[in-house]
Amino acid sequence: MPKVLVVEDESKIARFLELELTHEGYQVKAVGDGRSGLAQAAEWKPDVMILDLMLPGLSGIEVCRRLRQSEKELRLPILMLTAKDDISDKVMGLDMGADDYMTKPFAIEELLARMRVMLARSARGRTPPDETLSAGTLTLTPRSHEASLNGTLLSLTKKEYDLLLCLMRHAQEALTRDFLLENVWGYSYDGDNNVVDVYVRYLRNKIETIKGERYIHTIRGVGYMFRFEQE
Ligand code: CA
Repeated sequence: MPKVLVVEDESKIARFLELELTHEGYQVKAVGDGRSGLAQAAEWKPDVMILDLMLPGLSGIEVCRRLRQSEKELRLPILMLTAKDDISDKVMGLDMGADDYMTKPFAIEELLARMRVMLARSARGRTPPDETLSAGTLTLTPRSHEASLNGTLLSLTKKEYDLLLCLMRHAQEALTRDFLLENVWGYSYDGDNNVVDVYVRYLRNKIETIKGERYIHTIRGVGYMFRFEQE
């Protein structure tokens, strides 16, 4: 069952969430401050985090920011909780990379429903370590960080590999430059999003070398889509 990390300093709410989520069959761990939340996110590797905004020491926003900065491929879904119905906190939380947001008091059914959506969304983005992604003659093995084309190992830089992995995991989806930037370069990347176009060009030069085989398509006004096509 999915693991839920609850980071909440109000013990009544933490206890309530623990009981309800356990009852629903989740594995639950609850901690009462931001630093423990960060530590448990790294050690226990939860599938989703319920994060209170107002915490002693590190605030929920700061926890969110640090998590997003340290993450590479796997993005931990975060549902933020706050006592205040304050639009600026909400915007701030979402800016820092929270996936969803609820104001206390909340209905447990709604929280469960939103958590399910977040888990389903993130399950799609995760590849079991043994899995191989392939399309056409292109194969990518996340475990060994290798990609090959028509049986020949490709020489990709770290960023090229990360970009290809992201594109292949979201095959058939139109992805915006911002999405790719956030997922490949990280939320803290502070530069031009033209870097995406540049790297797509590098990748195309390496993977579209077989006549008639196309993998990365430009979606006008949106960004890019990974889809194997043979002319
Ligand atoms: Ca609190």
